[in-house]
Amino acid sequence: MVRSMNRFLLFSFTFFALSQASAAEVSITMDDFNVHQETLLPANKRNDRILKALKKHKIKAGLFVTCKYLQDEGDRKLLAEWSTQGHLIGNHTVNHRRFDSRISTEEQIAEIQQCEEQLKDQKNFKKIFRFPMLAEGDTVEKRDAVRSWMQKNSYRWGHVTIDASDWYVDQRLRDKIAKDPQFDLNKFKDFYLKHMWERAQYYNELSKKVLGHEVKHTLLVHFNLLNALFLDDLIQMFKDHGWKVIDAQKAFKDPVYKKLPNSMPSGQSLIWGLAKESGKFESELRYPGENDTYEKEKMDALGL
Ligand SMILES: [Zn+2]
Repeated sequence: MVRSMNRFLLFSFTFFALSQASAAEVSITMDDFNVHQETLLPANKRNDRILKALKKHKIKAGLFVTCKYLQDEGDRKLLAEWSTQGHLIGNHTVNHRRFDSRISTEEQIAEIQQCEEQLKDQKNFKKIFRFPMLAEGDTVEKRDAVRSWMQKNSYRWGHVTIDASDWYVDQRLRDKIAKDPQFDLNKFKDFYLKHMWERAQYYNELSKKVLGHEVKHTLLVHFNLLNALFLDDLIQMFKDHGWKVIDAQKAFKDPVYKKLPNSMPSGQSLIWGLAKESGKFESELRYPGENDTYEKEKMDALGL
């Protein structure tokens, strides 16, 4: 009896361990903090709804702030709510310029330094940086110069593993309600959730192929109307699919975030960069990894 009980317990533990091990993990990382967009909900309402969704699911996100949006005390107050509620605050430059041929290494570094000046008093500010549009430089020399500056200045990389086009869905949503205020917003929700699930699966499968295992993902979304409306549904969707939704700080502890792919064009999802570096997945890698052009026809066909 005791032996069969032990065997039963062993079986249960093994089953439990296996089922736990198979759950993919994802965290929410939100970019830009554009509190100056005029749309259906004012900035304070958007902020409240997004923070409420995170609180409901008991998770801490990472917010990558574009500092040009911090124009007055009111803006800084909205940001402080993120900090006091325990969310990670990261740097996303002052002006959100793409690091390409039009911007020098010195200008790029100044963008990071000046944004840090505006963020450093936030309680939960950490020296973690995410490149605007995930563009890490148009040449190997510029890419490596900023990398070495970041290392010397104790900056960590705010890599994205699951990239997507929520910003484009948001743009179409705002255009649609401007023309047709009665439009059924649930149609946007359905498209949005489906799109995000599709991209999450793609990058998760790619990580298994490239690294041989899943990573603690960082999902890229933006501070916008779309997420003010549907972030709660988005988080719930991952849970319904059996994924574990975790804190951004915990995700960034995964050793994968220390990797700096030696591939050009630089940037994109970290998983994309590692796949590119390996040279083995050319047929599975489109460039850019994500873009509005990939979603336009689908949304047109749905009348969104
Ligand atoms: Zn951005």
